[in-house]
Amino acid sequence: MNEFKSVWVFSENRDLMLEMLCKGRELADKLQTELAVILLGCKIKDQAEILIKYGADKVYVVDDPKFEKLQTEPYLSALTNLATRYRPEIILIGSTKRGKELAARLTTRLETGLVSDAFKLEIDENKRLIATRIVYSGNGVATETYQTKPQVATVQPRTFEKPKLMERKGQVVEVNVTLEEPKTEVIEIKPVEVKKVRIEDARIIVSGGRGVEKKEDFKMLEDLATLLGGYVGNTRPLAEDRKWFSEWVGLSGKKVKPDLYVACGLSGVIQHIAGMRDSKVIVAINKDQEAPIFQVADYIVVDDIYQIVPALTEALRKMLKS
Ligand SMILES: Cc1cc2nc3c(=O)[nH]c(=O)nc-3n(C[C@H](O)[C@H](O)[C@H](O)COP(=O)(O)OP(=O)(O)OC[C@H]3O[C@@H](n4cnc5c(N)ncnc54)[C@H](O)[C@@H]3O)c2cc1C
Repeated sequence: MNEFKSVWVFSENRDLMLEMLCKGRELADKLQTELAVILLGCKIKDQAEILIKYGADKVYVVDDPKFEKLQTEPYLSALTNLATRYRPEIILIGSTKRGKELAARLTTRLETGLVSDAFKLEIDENKRLIATRIVYSGNGVATETYQTKPQVATVQPRTFEKPKLMERKGQVVEVNVTLEEPKTEVIEIKPVEVKKVRIEDARIIVSGGRGVEKKEDFKMLEDLATLLGGYVGNTRPLAEDRKWFSEWVGLSGKKVKPDLYVACGLSGVIQHIAGMRDSKVIVAINKDQEAPIFQVADYIVVDDIYQIVPALTEALRKMLKS
């Protein structure tokens, strides 16, 4: 049987696929093997060439109308078939809802191991993949390796940088695969109302925690965010317990990577930090000088947000006017 070789990347989410391509390129170069993207979809052939310019050596394309409804079985059978045929060494799968389900079922079929939501991926001296992930609700970090191949990991959005476009050559391989029929039936698909800006894409975020006493008080955070041209974020208790918002930043929420993250009245426990620690500059305002957020902040203000946030907004407004 052929030996395992090459690094594969798959996600139905294009941005995430590109982010994993960047990390995949690094892993493939270390292993001196090729990097391939698995492109599954309906009428998607024309998207293959550009992926080579983003770093892929090869793009395997399976173009089939069965992929249209995003049901798992056609994806699962395509990936199982390709992996059995070409025997990749590493498979990175985007950690979307679909990707998580797919990765678990794929690794069961391939009888191999899976590390979910790895935030660090490296190759050790024995050429094994070393994957690091957060465990125990964010209270620990586990570093894991594999006893079987392919070595499969899922990766959350915004974990890695997107690659730059390059002039390079590669190969597009169209593959015929007999796809399984879905075991579920889609009855209805309704679009979700989305805000104009997704928090994941915001360059500036002003985020509030339980230090904000009333929902109306978020107005002061919104004023600051608007002035900075940013977006307002929040911690999980404000969404889950107080029901003020539908989403939150953190381990179990949205992962963000803005240029500026202003943390107002939030403690900054590990579950929150896991979602924003990669922000370029972190400013934290908290009246407790022991607040954990100060450990990751670049600038700290030990004071009351009800004093500091409006004063900061006012000072910025004056500065921008002059
Ligand atoms: C499995 C699991 C997953 C989780 N996932 C997430 C997640 O993804 N994201 C997330 O955010 N949380 C998550 N949590 C919850 C998390 O553990 C914390 O409970 C939560 O982040 C705390 O929110 P907070 O900082 O708003 O509140 P608190 O921890 O209560 O902090 C409030 C802070 O505000 C300060 N403060 C109060 N009043 C003022 C004031 N007037 N001026 C200045 N400072 C003030 C206090 O000093 C304190 O530091 C998760 C928990 C579990 C168990």
